[in-house]
Amino acid sequence: MFSNSLIELDRAHLVHPVSSYRSHERMGVRVLKSARGATVTDATGHHLLDGFAGLWCVNVGYGQESIVDAATKQLRELPYATGYFGLGSEPAIRLAAKLAELSPGDLNHIYFTLGGSDAVDSTIRFIRYYYHSKGTPQKDQFISVEYGYHGSSTAGSGLTAIPVFHAGFGAPFHWQHKIPSHYVYRNPVGSNSQAIIDASVGALRAKIAELGAERVAAFYAEPIQGSGGVLVPPVGWLTAMHAVCKEHDILFVADEVITGFGRTGPLFACEEDDVTPDLMTTAKGLTSGYVPLGAVFMSDNVYNTIADGAGKADVGHGYTYSAHPVSAAVGLECLRLYEDGLLDNGRRAGKRLMAGLRSLADHPLVGDVRGRGMLAAVELVTDKARKTPLPPEADLARRIFDRAWNNGLVIRAFANGVLGYAPPLCCTDEEIDGIIERTRRTLDQTLDDKDVR
Ligand code: PMP
Repeated sequence: MFSNSLIELDRAHLVHPVSSYRSHERMGVRVLKSARGATVTDATGHHLLDGFAGLWCVNVGYGQESIVDAATKQLRELPYATGYFGLGSEPAIRLAAKLAELSPGDLNHIYFTLGGSDAVDSTIRFIRYYYHSKGTPQKDQFISVEYGYHGSSTAGSGLTAIPVFHAGFGAPFHWQHKIPSHYVYRNPVGSNSQAIIDASVGALRAKIAELGAERVAAFYAEPIQGSGGVLVPPVGWLTAMHAVCKEHDILFVADEVITGFGRTGPLFACEEDDVTPDLMTTAKGLTSGYVPLGAVFMSDNVYNTIADGAGKADVGHGYTYSAHPVSAAVGLECLRLYEDGLLDNGRRAGKRLMAGLRSLADHPLVGDVRGRGMLAAVELVTDKARKTPLPPEADLARRIFDRAWNNGLVIRAFANGVLGYAPPLCCTDEEIDGIIERTRRTLDQTLDDKDVR
């Protein structure tokens, strides 16, 4: 059979991202075949609501013909143009200008990458160059937050604070440091917003004091921590952390790879806290996953310091596919779709999603429901009063994922029993209700499992 032979070829040849290679070989791949709107269809003809927008990226939904047209037109006209030698292409220039216009504050300078990991990696290089240009190269220590995810490049994976990205890889490096997360549901100081903000501010100040402010280059934060389990900080957290950085002349980097492009309501999540970072990283929703593209946003100060520091010399950072014209054409069309109603729809659907998920709070397995806009999580526990996590036996997350799949729903089931939601912003009310109904069915079925009681 067609899909059986594909499973064999996959097993023999395709190395999958972030997976247990041996478990994957045993279970075999599930081949996705087509998609429309918020629905994906696998090779067996099974239709599923995509509650995770691929990998929190297909914000505009599948099958947007205007994107296909924009990409096709660009492929015909000019499929490639380098940015080296002073060359460029119209879509890349227009997209950079549009992003500068739409982003907060003076983030006026855009460097395009292929995705989020190389966007984060680029910021590390730009930041080092920035301090060399300023004549303070000793500022070379980087701080990020436990449970944070900043990609899996060689340097970026050390800013990431999720164990599987470190173990066996020699990460993090000695210049990469962490402070505890705000993780409201499990914060040792309790759930009071101000107490949590104070604890984070205290931890950042303590880390800066330990390292010496004159050695600290930058602090990285996601406005909402995504891959760590959709951890939503109290309102004001970002502002408070930003203020500590300003006080100590430390660059503040907002990693908006997940939260950017309408995922949490506004175009960028840091707008919610009225924070303008010094650098911002984006990817995913920028092209909604139709083609690869990421972007680093730099403030006037960061860009001009680097430019002046280099003088006539080349700033030696770049890729063959920086500012790819086809990706840029897709990015421009995605931005048009966001402005043309998708952001509004996402805000409306986000309210329904959060209300729906909160209605699951009465379920015996649900310990916490959290989120903002179309980015949410349900944290499962076996004992609500004690907040006992699901037993860490392997495969429980997999079992829940499989069950949801059989119920016609794609969600992210994190190993610690957190279910992640990031549906396309185009979702209808019926689709949101379907996500909630299928989740409840999946939870009910899981309640029958002996090992989760
Ligand atoms: N930063 C954040 C906040 C992310 O969520 C991700 C990906 N999930 C990345 C960086 C890395 O992006 P990519 O997978 O496109 O390399």
